[in-house]
Amino acid sequence: MSDCLFCKIISGEIPSSKVYEDDVCYAFNDIAPQAPTHFLVVPKTHIGSVAEVDGGNSAAVAHIFEVIAKLTKEMGVESYRVVSNIGEQAGQSVPHLHFHVLAGRDMTWPPG
Ligand code: 5GP
Ligand code: ZN
Repeated sequence: MSDCLFCKIISGEIPSSKVYEDDVCYAFNDIAPQAPTHFLVVPKTHIGSVAEVDGGNSAAVAHIFEVIAKLTKEMGVESYRVVSNIGEQAGQSVPHLHFHVLAGRDMTWPPG
């Protein structure tokens, strides 16, 4: 999607601090970290949010969760939170599916 911020990050048009990349997904550090570890994992294909996940693209989501498990193991991170905001009321600010991975501090529940 030509006017999508995360599509531009994936293509390299907008610079980012890369954590991991493969054919299906791209992971990069959040520009405004909310925890000592805070990176985002996004599918390279533009998907608007979890609300647009279906049988045609869910393999990318499964793959992203495998990548999250692998990356956190490699980082030695044993406890972490994975968050995906969907829509304005939940706080989604970038309309390209992304999973926040947060770790390194105590977290509260329920989230705000
Ligand atoms: P959302 O609010 O949609 O759940 O998450 C979007 C996330 O993208 C936010 O945590 C925000 O800090 C991050 N973000 C917004 N613009 C940029 C950017 O240009 N570069 C990086 N690395 N992160 C960004
Ligand atoms: Zn996009």
